[in-house]
Amino acid sequence: MRALIDLHCHSTVSDGVLTPTEIVNHAAEKGVRVLALTDHDDVAGLATARAVAETHGMQFINGVEISVTWRRRTLHIVGLKINPEYAPLVQGLANIRAGRHTRAEGMAQALEKVGIHGALEGAYEYSKGGIISRTHFARFLIEKGYAKDTKAVFKRYLVKGKPGYVEHQWASLEDAMAWIIGSGGVAVIAHPGRYDLGRVTMLELMHEFRALGGAAIEVVTGSHTVDQYQEFAKMAKSFDLASSMGSDYHGKGQTYIEMGRLPSLPSHCVPVWRDWSEVQNMELEAH
Ligand code: AMP
Ligand code: MN
Ligand code: MN
Ligand code: MN
Repeated sequence: MRALIDLHCHSTVSDGVLTPTEIVNHAAEKGVRVLALTDHDDVAGLATARAVAETHGMQFINGVEISVTWRRRTLHIVGLKINPEYAPLVQGLANIRAGRHTRAEGMAQALEKVGIHGALEGAYEYSKGGIISRTHFARFLIEKGYAKDTKAVFKRYLVKGKPGYVEHQWASLEDAMAWIIGSGGVAVIAHPGRYDLGRVTMLELMHEFRALGGAAIEVVTGSHTVDQYQEFAKMAKSFDLASSMGSDYHGKGQTYIEMGRLPSLPSHCVPVWRDWSEVQNMELEAH
């Protein structure tokens, strides 16, 4: 069965290619009935997206994907049903965005050293007033012919050990979760299958996340394999966490999967939306 709920996607407010209006229209076209917009470290698209969702009779969930540093590694924590006006959240996200500007300057300097000029201006050209991210550097580098696609450009320039990668300190896990939960939202570990943690550290993360009030982990996401759906469904169960799902859509030709194409959660999962008033009595699956 195909799921009609998508709780993870990006607009031009972060590193997606569709505007908040366009992504909601796109989701509607693809049959999505419950949508969360989860831009990286910014909530600026939520009001517009909600208004557009209403015109489609779609249920809209306020979301955000917060960049976190945990044990010197980068993790992403999705907040759902957040209050985007909650002052500690607003301030915390503003600080992360300020850090992104500093990191971008460092990345451009690092790229300069390997003979790549104009990367800062080039990347900002793509970010168009939204947050600045590695994805925007990737688009610039592809445009200039340094790599053929997103996957190749990350591998060659933008990951740890490569010329354009700069170590960065994001929010702490404690802070990110306090902002989300304090605003009335629920915290979700995004795409756990993408963290190269090792079994023991992964279990420690789950433990700590739960102790901090975490609600769910993403089980079905665009970047998980079918085997990982099962693996993380099992992990959710053993930690008594709920399960979430989302495409992590960034636009056509970007990474991962199209909207409206993900399979439903494995049947033994407890959906993170189980008790949400927004989705009661809604049919969330189709053939
Ligand atoms: P940033 O938060 O600026 O470090 O950028 C992270 C974003 O880059 C992620 O949200 C993805 O959209 C994208 N990304 C990260 N790693 C990869 C990869 N290996 N291939 C393609 N896109 C990636
Ligand atoms: Mn992204
Ligand atoms: Mn992510
Ligand atoms: Mn994402």
